[in-house]
Amino acid sequence: MADMSPCKVKMPEQDPLVRNKNFKEVSLGYTPEMAVAEANRCLNCKNKPCVSGCPVNVQIPEFISLVAKGDFKAAYEKISETSSLPAVCGRVCPQESQCEGKCIRGIKGESVAIGRLERFVADYYMENFEKQIPQIAANGKKVAVIGAGPAGLTCAGDLAKLGYKVTIFEAFHTAGGVLVYGIPEFRLPKKIVAKEIDGLKKLGVEIMTDMVIGKVLSVDEIIDMGYEAVFIGSGAGLPMFMGIEGEGSVGVYSANEFLTRINLMKAYLDEYDTPIKKVNSVAVVGGGNVAMDAARCAKRLGAEHVYIIYRRSEEEMPARKEEVHHAKEEEIEFKLLCNPKRIIADENGYVKGIECIKMKLGEPDASGRCRPIEIENSEFILDVDSVIMSLGTSPNPLIRTTTPGVEANKRGCLIVDENMKTTKDGVYAGGDAVTGAATVILAMGAGKSAAAAIDEYLKKQ
Ligand SMILES: Cc1cc2nc3c(=O)[nH]c(=O)nc-3n(C[C@H](O)[C@H](O)[C@H](O)COP(=O)(O)OP(=O)(O)OC[C@H]3O[C@@H](n4cnc5c(N)ncnc54)[C@H](O)[C@@H]3O)c2cc1C
Repeated sequence: MADMSPCKVKMPEQDPLVRNKNFKEVSLGYTPEMAVAEANRCLNCKNKPCVSGCPVNVQIPEFISLVAKGDFKAAYEKISETSSLPAVCGRVCPQESQCEGKCIRGIKGESVAIGRLERFVADYYMENFEKQIPQIAANGKKVAVIGAGPAGLTCAGDLAKLGYKVTIFEAFHTAGGVLVYGIPEFRLPKKIVAKEIDGLKKLGVEIMTDMVIGKVLSVDEIIDMGYEAVFIGSGAGLPMFMGIEGEGSVGVYSANEFLTRINLMKAYLDEYDTPIKKVNSVAVVGGGNVAMDAARCAKRLGAEHVYIIYRRSEEEMPARKEEVHHAKEEEIEFKLLCNPKRIIADENGYVKGIECIKMKLGEPDASGRCRPIEIENSEFILDVDSVIMSLGTSPNPLIRTTTPGVEANKRGCLIVDENMKTTKDGVYAGGDAVTGAATVILAMGAGKSAAAAIDEYLKKQ
């Protein structure tokens, strides 16, 4: 009989006013006792609505019932049948709109904490067991993967397990994509990503870093090197700006650059000499998860005031509720229903303020969200010494402009068919490079589908 408590077992967290000064993980994870207690809330429904909400089809009730029995190793193995990055997904997946969003327990209370259980199982396994590397017979065929983010890593792992010799070409000096350069340490410790990547290397996947495809080598040159298929998982790392006055001032960053300096290049550690301007007041423009990450990083670097400037109300904010909640607890100040007009610089070109205008909400626009409308003569100035633009990203044009035959849509996203094949034979793509900025689990799902399609294609060659 399931435990009918309407609330999830709480997960311990660092105190908000302590954690907003350090980069250690915010949520501390379940103990085995907590995990078993939470697992006992699962009704083990026959029709498994949670599974239909998971883009990689994790057999959720089955792994949860193993947790309830205390068999955490078997629970990990069950998740691993379909997910290659459980410790990552347990931390960063938007479970509230996926598996947990479909959980029956969510109708009259809180859904089962599927994400927290997944995280617990993955952490427990990593701490207590060594991943078994299967013996794989090589099939003599080579596949190239461009980009070492969740899409590329998943595609590479699945192909390696099928016997392909896989090489990943990654532009940065470290593999992981947004998992290492975007998502901060306090949400996703980098040692977890490193461990997952280590597992791929043990499967025989070769990772070549500092390889900007389209500059160092082209896709056609890779094919000429004997790779029989190519998967493009190059993400959507090109930041957007507003085009307002003062955006070129010293102290204006794109969220991507700001986060890359902090996460990938460790600007928060004294032993690294990555430059980042020490500031007192920061305005982060945008209302998504990336904006929350940038704001929370700026606070941890010592800024006294960190403002989120968002042109709609909290209800329309695209960020996960949990991220907004954590940001508020950490004393991030929300300036809602206002929009920047210009950035003000001093005589040396350094940011000294941002002029905003107040907004009200009108009728819903094409996105279904209420359209923000300026309120006349409501301009005001916020004194800030840095501005971080977090307005979204699109795919970098480098690969599509250097690969004849590969086509993209108006938004710069690569065009693929239902098998993830691009408009060029033997070249497949997936993840943010195809969808535009999305989620880790969707990128992994795309990498998985592409690996299966590449296998089908190469079996016929
Ligand atoms: C700050 C931030 C926070 C986020 N938080 C979440 C979250 O909490 N939950 C969630 O689900 N999603 C989150 N996302 C979105 C999620 O991380 C992405 O949707 C996901 O990483 C996309 O995976 P990908 O493999 O397609 O691309 P990426 O992760 O972007 O990886 C692409 C890789 O390709 C490399 N590359 C690019 N061009 C080239 C080239 N020419 N040659 C070689 N390599 C190249 C890049 O360096 C990168 O390593 C967040 C994104 C950001 C930016």
